[in-house]
Amino acid sequence: MIASVLPTYNRAPLNFVKGEGSWLIEADGRRFLDLGAGIAVNALGHAHPALVQALTDQAQNLWHVSNLYQIPQQQALADKLVEHTFADTAFFTNSGTEACELAVKMARKYFYDKGQEQRVEILTFDGSFHGRSAAGISAAGSEKMTKGFGPVLPGFVHLTFGDMDGVTNAITDSTAAILIEPIQGEGGIRAVPDAELKTLRALCDEHGILLILDEVQCGVGRTGKLFAHEWAGITPDIMMVAKGIGGGFPLGAVLATEDAASGMTAGTHGSTYGGNPLGCAVGCAVMDHVTDPAFLDEVNRKAGLLRQKLEGLVGAHPEVFESVRGSGLMLGLKCKATNIDVVNAGYDNQVITVPAADNVIRLLPPLTLSDDDITQALNRLDQAATQIETA
Ligand SMILES: *Cc1c(COP(=O)(O)O)cnc(C)c1O
Repeated sequence: MIASVLPTYNRAPLNFVKGEGSWLIEADGRRFLDLGAGIAVNALGHAHPALVQALTDQAQNLWHVSNLYQIPQQQALADKLVEHTFADTAFFTNSGTEACELAVKMARKYFYDKGQEQRVEILTFDGSFHGRSAAGISAAGSEKMTKGFGPVLPGFVHLTFGDMDGVTNAITDSTAAILIEPIQGEGGIRAVPDAELKTLRALCDEHGILLILDEVQCGVGRTGKLFAHEWAGITPDIMMVAKGIGGGFPLGAVLATEDAASGMTAGTHGSTYGGNPLGCAVGCAVMDHVTDPAFLDEVNRKAGLLRQKLEGLVGAHPEVFESVRGSGLMLGLKCKATNIDVVNAGYDNQVITVPAADNVIRLLPPLTLSDDDITQALNRLDQAATQIETA
């Protein structure tokens, strides 16, 4: 008999009933150090007082009105995003993959309105992940995500990650945009070097096409800047945001320049829930924290500390780990042992990590993790590695 929940997930036998900061409490009372943060979602950790306050205050007043009316919380969040980023405008979604849908539509509509209807192709890269909608899986293009689900959507050209000549050669009169994660998350914490992001920006400018960045996982303070592309000194035309922006409340956004968004006039796109008062009240509270320069300084300081200690861990367990990769608090441990075994050994030692492609385990802790949490993280990862060595 099929499980009452559609069995599309491989779930660990863990039942968390409460969260506090960087810690999750299992139904049996055990405390787990959470270095996964719900896959980079709980940016301010669990039950952050400011987020609890924002959500409960809003819940007592108004949950939902629809986008038929003004939503002051949505306006406030859009204003904050516009103030702190390249963007002139924002559309709110409930998830990352919905942001992908709009990013693709927006890029194509831009050229349609300019009389270049043939420009529909979006260039994407192997190992990428843009969510599980039809456009999301067609953009990523991997067999793992698309096989058995009928025809993938046309209009995506899949390129080799890191092959800049391949990008140059792929740009034609049909190209609308390049879509890329500055740091691949699901793909195994693979960062696009700053120089390559600059090259992609230059190629887009040269050919008059749009640069779409997917910062769903790497954005919202995760790398120590508000958005990861800032490290490369470039800006996109369109950007997908989700995960951390809601701190655990389902919330996403597409940010864009006025020019890139010019095709999206009244009636061209919409969402029943997107930008609802609850999500946007929480999003405003998240933004107030992550845009504070002192907060980002702390992310960078702790990221440096964690990385340094992880290098030591890799050195101490060369049979289990190969290297540390990533940026800020978006770190990957490339494993020699099987990554799933390392994640499971972490569970045994009450530390949570997240597997990714390329035999990597991801560390995406709450950005609020403390120095003591970092010490605990290393102790537990060290125990997990020792367990694998002695198994
Ligand atoms: C998680 C993720 C998505 C999809 O977000 P959902 O909210 O799961 O739809 C898209 N892109 C990237 C880079 C992600 O990490």
